[in-house]
Amino acid sequence: MTASPEVVVVGAGAAGASVAYELVKRGLTVTMIERDSVASHASGFAYGGLFPTMGAGIPGPVLKHAKRGVSLHKRLAPELEDATGIDVELRAVRSLDLAADEEGFRKLEASLAWQSEEDLEAELLDADGVRSLEPALIGDLAGGLLQRSHFEVDSYKYTLALVTAFERAGGTHRPGDVVGLVRDGERVTGVRLGSGDQVMGGAVVLATGPWAGDARDGESGLPRFPVKPKKGEILRMRFPGRDFVHRVSLGGHYIARKPDGLVWGGSTEEDAGFDDRPSTSARDSIMAGVLALAPALEGAEIVQHTACLRPVSADEMPIVGALPGYDGLFAANGAGKKGILLSPVMGRMVAGSIVGEPGRDPIPDEFAAARFEYA
Ligand SMILES: Cc1cc2nc3c(=O)[nH]c(=O)nc-3n(C[C@H](O)[C@H](O)[C@H](O)COP(=O)(O)OP(=O)(O)OC[C@H]3O[C@@H](n4cnc5c(N)ncnc54)[C@H](O)[C@@H]3O)c2cc1C
Repeated sequence: MTASPEVVVVGAGAAGASVAYELVKRGLTVTMIERDSVASHASGFAYGGLFPTMGAGIPGPVLKHAKRGVSLHKRLAPELEDATGIDVELRAVRSLDLAADEEGFRKLEASLAWQSEEDLEAELLDADGVRSLEPALIGDLAGGLLQRSHFEVDSYKYTLALVTAFERAGGTHRPGDVVGLVRDGERVTGVRLGSGDQVMGGAVVLATGPWAGDARDGESGLPRFPVKPKKGEILRMRFPGRDFVHRVSLGGHYIARKPDGLVWGGSTEEDAGFDDRPSTSARDSIMAGVLALAPALEGAEIVQHTACLRPVSADEMPIVGALPGYDGLFAANGAGKKGILLSPVMGRMVAGSIVGEPGRDPIPDEFAAARFEYA
């Protein structure tokens, strides 16, 4: 008979993988349970941008965690490659945030002002400056902000490397659909699987992405999180040449060339429940957005079209740490559009809170799971 692990982590996306890896590094025995496969949802198909300059809570309470996320990714990439042989393709990205008119340009100026105060390097360019870097851009452009603080990873390889490093450090990964908790009064002592098995553990971490907000969870005995799925789609295109070595973005659309040479066009934001199938309407909307910026892409061949669900919390902040009313139950969820960037920070926060040694990464009030009630 195998001894029960000290911690059970549910979900092998970036959030669960990061928590599990941080826990085994702290010497705990950990079992990770995933019902599909590693990184088979948003964590495997995200753009993988590590952009500390944009998104919910930036500038604001998320900024310092986003900056910390970038520095932890820089440390993790070589550490994971040493442990697993997997190159997560961490690299600097030159992003060009574009402005179509004077009003947009003033927003870029305001962004440059606060970024300079935060030591985030950026440079304002006029329209000619932008076109000298990316000649394929046409249409009305007032200018752009060239970001020098942006990085990216391959989100699938990153999540896979975390799980592989976790296993090589002694962690156990097993398939299973978690359908409920095992409880002894307030104390959570394990999880129930759809197969009827139980996996007992001293603590349980739920890192189940948008599905944590599924109404059925409340009925099954799993707490229902204030988290909703926000669907996002991306097109990967073959377009030979040297255009789009800068990631260009305007009005919610972006174009970027990845290390394998494919040009990615994105993206969409849609409330579509748990439907994660690629749609023709999203494909058309992305193509309309990218063609308005760069008509040359008319000749691009679409080689892959992906759709997945971001886990977005009710206040758009991550949900981490101990759940109120459940002794021994923890969350790593709700990172929305920033779940790859913030995952190393969330992993350390949750692991630190389980072992009672938060170190440099205590859970801030605005991320604490205790700010919500769970049905
Ligand atoms: C189009 C798009 C682009 C994005 N771009 C970026 C980006 O550039 N930068 C960035 O930082 N973030 C980005 N994101 C966001 C990022 O992908 C997510 O925030 C992140 O992947 C969420 O990770 P997660 O582990 O919380 O959830 P998920 O990746 O969804 O993983 C949750 C896992 O839990 C499993 N699970 C659920 N329920 C159960 C159960 N009951 N039993 C067992 N297993 C279960 C699921 O199968 C799944 O594998 C993007 C997202 C999208 C959609």
